[in-house]
Amino acid sequence: MAQIGLNGITKSFGDTIVLQGIDLQIADGEFLTLVGPSGCGKSTLLRIIAGLEAQSGGDVTIGDRQVNRLRPSRRDLAMVFQSYALYPHLSVQQNMETPLRLRDLGFWERAPLLGALLPGRGAKLDRLRANVREVAQVLEIEHLLARKPGQLSGGQRQRVALGRAMVRKPVAFLMDEPLSNLDAALRVHMRAELAQLHRALGTTFVYVTHDQAEALTMSDRMAVMMDGVILQLGAPSEIYRDPQHRKVAEFVGSPR
Ligand code: ADP
Ligand code: MG
Repeated sequence: MAQIGLNGITKSFGDTIVLQGIDLQIADGEFLTLVGPSGCGKSTLLRIIAGLEAQSGGDVTIGDRQVNRLRPSRRDLAMVFQSYALYPHLSVQQNMETPLRLRDLGFWERAPLLGALLPGRGAKLDRLRANVREVAQVLEIEHLLARKPGQLSGGQRQRVALGRAMVRKPVAFLMDEPLSNLDAALRVHMRAELAQLHRALGTTFVYVTHDQAEALTMSDRMAVMMDGVILQLGAPSEIYRDPQHRKVAEFVGSPR
């Protein structure tokens, strides 16, 4: 069964139609990439899956539940952002214990102190701390737990942001251009790390990028988007070898 289902999703901002009817079934455990040029609607679609943005039409399902009216914090998804969105005044440990609540995202930048108010308590906190230790080990960031985000490199910050998402054991990770703030060499290195992490976790990744090389190297399947539609969906090798559309061929750089 598809774990995340998008059925006829449309989205307009005022008179601007941004998504023109997206149908996509994402399988449990799949690494699915939404890829396409800037402005084609990738982030909007990801935000609709997360519940951060309401679709204008169509249904979102998670498992067998229709989640159209479910708020972000109830969808069991974790979002990882390009900007990392770490609370600057909290240690890495505290950041990981204090997951960014999706519904707080809007005012995160306006209210950084909010982070201090959110950690769990009692048994819940104990369980959370055990998860933080486990995740820190997997990501090899145990030695960074006492530091503040400002004392970390870009790659380390990205690992911490990922770690924070992992601590809550979500049913899927939603990632919006998580590597685009890193320099080229680190980006290539992190690609391999993310692919490896995906295999180790076995959890669904929905990954947004405008970088066709990223999509081609990491995904199980990629959905090539242009102007609010999915032009082609398939395995990277299949799309590269057999693009169904001239725009897709140009975008992925298929040989003529
Ligand atoms: P991508 O992530 O593929 O670069 P986006 O989903 O961010 O594309 O944006 C798709 C289109 O929707 C763009 O034309 C963008 O300007 C527009 N858009 C996105 N968010 C809003 C918004 N909140 N209000 C108005 N227009 C928006
Ligand atoms: Mg975007």
